[in-house]
Amino acid sequence: MDSAPIGNASEATAPARTTIRGLAGLVQRGLIGPDTAQELEKVGERYAVAVTETVAALIAQDPNGPVARQYIPTEAELVEAPGEIDDPIGDHAHSPVRGLVHRYPDRVLFKLTHACPVYCRFCFRREMVGPGGDALGKREVEAALDYIRTHPEVWEVVFSGGDPLYLPARKISQVIAGIDAIPHVEVVRFHTRVPVVLPEAIDDAMIAALRGRAAAYVVVHINHREELTPEAIAALRRMSQAGITLLSQTVLLAGINDDSEVLAQLFRALVANTVKPYYLHHLDPARGTSHFRVPIARGQEIVRQLRGRVSGLCQPTYMLDIPGGHGKVPIGPNYLSATDSGYEVTDPQGAMHAYPEAGGTP
Ligand code: SF4
Repeated sequence: MDSAPIGNASEATAPARTTIRGLAGLVQRGLIGPDTAQELEKVGERYAVAVTETVAALIAQDPNGPVARQYIPTEAELVEAPGEIDDPIGDHAHSPVRGLVHRYPDRVLFKLTHACPVYCRFCFRREMVGPGGDALGKREVEAALDYIRTHPEVWEVVFSGGDPLYLPARKISQVIAGIDAIPHVEVVRFHTRVPVVLPEAIDDAMIAALRGRAAAYVVVHINHREELTPEAIAALRRMSQAGITLLSQTVLLAGINDDSEVLAQLFRALVANTVKPYYLHHLDPARGTSHFRVPIARGQEIVRQLRGRVSGLCQPTYMLDIPGGHGKVPIGPNYLSATDSGYEVTDPQGAMHAYPEAGGTP
């Protein structure tokens, strides 16, 4: 078996995968001026820059809007705040073989590629992802599959990255065939921005690649209603009609979605298009991202407001990934406090109510 990469920049050059790369690409597409590109040179040297045609069209419509702010670099990225680190979620500390992270007993993270069709300015893996970054070779994929095979406690394989759906369907299909031959893996999960930023890549071949023996879940990363274009909605519908369960993840971002009405619009639109909002993430402390950070107290307030006004289907869990690889925990508002006679419960409007412990009196 050779060690050719399973996905690389040259394989990502089919028409549906064309991406506008680097500051020069943004200038050429008319998304920033040459003077701005010059001012941003240091940012462009430090962090990857890319958008797709779908994203470029949204930015062109609203150059200061919520989509533009997620992708157009700014000099604020050169500011490093205290506590910001290279590997905020501690992948390195739990990696038994290259490309795998085994942090929780029943699941592994499988990072097939470091490339994405877009590079988000707040990315939690921004020190690792980028075009031309090393994709796993076939031998490395085999080594990862061997690890999973010899760890019967692994029930779920989570593909993240880089964006796993940026790989050609044929490559994904090969890996899924390997996973399907491991009986104790019952679930595969793909974390991706592709259905939103490169919806044309969700074609019949891609959908067939995702559907194997193990139950397939796709977690769509999306932060604002404006990202849900008619093409993105059509891509999501194609997947759900093929029996793939769809969830979403949203990062709470200052100036983009730190508002309960903005989030309500996004979550309602997702649920109406068969996507269940799963996690609302507190921003990880990756370097140069402090301008996107929302205080936790503000995040809890937003979540409390959502609880009072939006269907339960539209309520993701507000989550924090503890820096250093210590795992994720929910950090939403607390509605319950203990009293001498039982509990006090806060309703969504903020009013307090006594609640008896079973067998007690109110
Ligand atoms: S798509 Fe995900 S991994 Fe890629 S740059 Fe955006 S946040 Fe990072």
